[in-house]
Amino acid sequence: MLCRDVKRAVYLFLDGQLGEMKQNDYNSHLKLCPSCDTRTKLQEKLRRFVRKRVDHISDAAPDRLKTRLVRSIRAFRNEWSRADGVLD
Ligand SMILES: [Zn+2]
Repeated sequence: MLCRDVKRAVYLFLDGQLGEMKQNDYNSHLKLCPSCDTRTKLQEKLRRFVRKRVDHISDAAPDRLKTRLVRSIRAFRNEWSRADGVLD
């Protein structure tokens, strides 16, 4: 496997979708090539980070968002009822 193959395959590798032969090829390239090794580890870290964030957001967002929405709707209504009062 060449560096450009490794570059192209990094996402498949991290997903474990390369297939056994290529996965082995990939691994042996990493042992010989520090720059591809570093790049792969970086991508892996990035992925883990993003995934953690996404999990966090999808867990926490709905309730918080709901609360915020309800609040702003209430605030909006209050504004309107006050405005009505002034007009009366
Ligand atoms: Zn390489």
